[in-house]
Amino acid sequence: MLIKNQFKKSFHSWTWLILIVFLGAGIFYPPIGLIAIICMLAPPVGALFNGRTTCSWFCPRGSFLDVIVSKISCNKNIPSLFYNNIFRLIVFMTIMAVFLLQIIPVWGNITGMGRVFITMIYITTFIGIILAAAFKPRTWCTFCPMGTMGNWVAKLRKNSYISINKDICSSCTACERICPMQFASYKYKDRDKIHFYDCLRCGKCEKKCPAKSIKLITE
Ligand code: SF4
Ligand code: SF4
Repeated sequence: MLIKNQFKKSFHSWTWLILIVFLGAGIFYPPIGLIAIICMLAPPVGALFNGRTTCSWFCPRGSFLDVIVSKISCNKNIPSLFYNNIFRLIVFMTIMAVFLLQIIPVWGNITGMGRVFITMIYITTFIGIILAAAFKPRTWCTFCPMGTMGNWVAKLRKNSYISINKDICSSCTACERICPMQFASYKYKDRDKIHFYDCLRCGKCEKKCPAKSIKLITE
C-alpha cells in the first residue's frame, strides 16, 4: 500500500508535463487530441472502485493545477454555487452539447476529431487556470464534467467513505483547511460513514489530522 501511495504521489508530481506536451503537440499534430479520451473516462471508471481517486493522482490537469497554478492561487474559498447540482448539470450539458456539435460534422476524420478534443482541453484548462488563480487550485474540479460523472458513479457505488473517531476529533478544522475540495468532514463526525462524493481520495486530511482520527475507507 505504501509503495502504491508513493507511486501515485510521484506520478501526480509530474503528470502536468503530459498536459503541456499534449497541448503543445496538439497544435502541430491534432490527432494526438484523441488521447484525451483516456483522461475523460478515468474519473467515472475509477469511481467504480474508489470515488474520484483518479482526479487526485492520474489527471494531468489536476496535477497542473496542484503543482504549477497553485503557486499563483489566492487560495480563497470556492464559491458554493460550484457545488450546486443544478449548476453542475447545466455545465455538464452545455459542454457536452458544444462537444457533440463540434465532433459530429468531423466524425471519422481523425485530424478533425483530435482538433475538437485539443480545443476543448485548451478552453477548459484556461477556465481552470483563471478559477485556480482567483480561488483554490482545484476550483475547476468542483464542476468539471468528468468529475461530475465520477461523482454520479461514486453516488451509485457508495463504496468509499470517510470515517472519523468522534471521541478523539477536536474539531480543529485542519482537515477542512487542507482539503482541496474544501470539505468539512468533522462537521459530520457523528455519522458512521461520511459520504462526500467529490472526495478526491487524496488522503491529505488523513495525513494532516493531529489526532489521527480521520480515515479514508474503501470497501
Ligand atoms: S483534523 Fe482531525 S481532529 Fe481536526 S477536525 Fe479534522 S478530523 Fe477532527
Ligand atoms: S482532503 Fe480528505 S476529504 Fe478532502 S479530497 Fe482529500 S481525501 Fe477527500
